[in-house]
Amino acid sequence: MGKPTGFKEFPRETVPYSDPLKRISGWNEFTVDVPEEHLRTQGARCMDCGVPFCQSATGCPIDNLIPEWNDLVYHGRWREALDRLHKTNNFPEFTGRVCPAPCEGACVLGITDPAVAIKNIESAIVDKGFAEGWIHPEPPKERTGKKVAIIGSGPAGLTAAQQLNRAGHSVTVYERDDRIGGLLTYGIPNMKLDKSIVDRRVDLIRAEGVEFVTNAHVGVNKDAQKIRSQHDAVILACGATRPRDLPIPGRKLEGIHFAMDFLLKNTKSLMDSKLEDGAYISAKGKRVIVIGGGDTGTDCIGTSMRHGCTSMVNFELLPRPPQARADDNPWPEWPVIFRVDYGHEEVAAKFGNDPREYRVLSKRFLDDGNGKVAGVETVRVEWMKDTHGKWQMSEVPGSEQIFEADLVFLAMGFLGPEDTLAEQFGLERDPRSNFKAQYGKYATSTEGVFAAGDCRRGQSLVVWGIAEGRGAARAVDTFLTGSSDLLAPD
Ligand SMILES: Cc1cc2nc3c(=O)[nH]c(=O)nc-3n(C[C@H](O)[C@H](O)[C@H](O)COP(=O)(O)OP(=O)(O)OC[C@H]3O[C@@H](n4cnc5c(N)ncnc54)[C@H](O)[C@@H]3O)c2cc1C
Ligand code: SF4
Repeated sequence: MGKPTGFKEFPRETVPYSDPLKRISGWNEFTVDVPEEHLRTQGARCMDCGVPFCQSATGCPIDNLIPEWNDLVYHGRWREALDRLHKTNNFPEFTGRVCPAPCEGACVLGITDPAVAIKNIESAIVDKGFAEGWIHPEPPKERTGKKVAIIGSGPAGLTAAQQLNRAGHSVTVYERDDRIGGLLTYGIPNMKLDKSIVDRRVDLIRAEGVEFVTNAHVGVNKDAQKIRSQHDAVILACGATRPRDLPIPGRKLEGIHFAMDFLLKNTKSLMDSKLEDGAYISAKGKRVIVIGGGDTGTDCIGTSMRHGCTSMVNFELLPRPPQARADDNPWPEWPVIFRVDYGHEEVAAKFGNDPREYRVLSKRFLDDGNGKVAGVETVRVEWMKDTHGKWQMSEVPGSEQIFEADLVFLAMGFLGPEDTLAEQFGLERDPRSNFKAQYGKYATSTEGVFAAGDCRRGQSLVVWGIAEGRGAARAVDTFLTGSSDLLAPD
């Protein structure tokens, strides 16, 4: 334990974000650099708990050795901290930037005080590792002669690729997009995760010996059965981005888009031409409504703000969460509380109000008379528990309201993976249409075909993609060789 009295002496101080009004003029990451001393002080707040809930099942899904590296950072032993971090996490530079940090929700200090700033410390360790030149490709010493195909290059696919390659298997990753990274590249926008950070890690994995094939849409322009027959095992890591639609009157009007269309095109145009090619949906000068919250909704807000939208409203179907944990949401569960994310902060700074409107149900899209969307007719709802304790929604009479808009983004979640691969590989699906494969085993109903990440568990988090990629790699290594030394969370 670094400083036994650290948690009493120092308050929690997270790495600040840059001025919201300044940062919306560009696409740079919004966190600012802090002196090393700041991180060391925050590391000193860790109590090195006997039972560190931060790295338990309710905390970190990849069992990061959090108290160990908190202590090492406090003592300025960054190199050792990096080695401990990389033992459980292939890509801490991604989770250190975008993870909601369930570890902090489970931190024991959080029972009485603000939790340890774990995520900032994680990010600082790996950023320093890259800055100091400590992170190199780690190719295997020997090859096993076994070949593995991975379909999809998001966090689950990249993690599985790195792990299996390090075990000596020859790995080829097939990706339908023109760039590698999955939602790390074409979902999460640049201001949250700069794309040079993704490319840097992909280059390392490539240098370790993994082969990447882009524009390879398996089941469409790449034959699935051929891929299966040419490899000893296949991992499906193709995500779950089939969007939930809103089939209300007026849905076909111009100006209503799925969130992912907006976000993907924006990042591609930004990377291809710094938005010079105009190949994206622009929110400039438009009144925007984002339907749905979560990360996807917030990213639509942040992207629209950078385009220069003239107003922003964000509909949430659920009530506003409480300021502090509710009685039925005790520690160490993930705290369901009111949070202000970067996009909300930017809207408040520019337009003077938080964009979120709660308990709003969209009833109809309005036509401007020329086939374009002009707004959304809504009604407020109430949520009550029925006699079985299940939440039921009802409309509040007389609460109808019209919100004007020129552009509407649908960010209401995802319905699972697309059908093509399931059909081509003859896979069983679970009741939510994900590929059926037991957690911890990852084997699908088709011999030699495994599934990991969002396509197995449904739309989730980057850290879960890494956890499942590690687990699937160990399962495949065992399938190919009879045993495995690859570390993976239980
Ligand atoms: C807008 C948005 C913002 C998010 N923000 C966060 C965040 O801040 N923090 C966080 O932790 N999580 C966030 N998430 C969730 C997180 O990105 C995902 O849970 C994670 O990326 C899932 O990883 P994956 O590898 O399973 O799938 P994905 O990242 O979805 O990657 C799947 C890849 O497979 C490819 N593919 C699909 N089908 C085929 C095929 N037939 N042939 C070849 N390739 C194929 C896809 O093109 C894609 O590149 C966000 C999600 C979205 C949509
Ligand atoms: S639960 Fe919090 S205080 Fe305890 S070891 Fe983990 S980070 Fe440190």
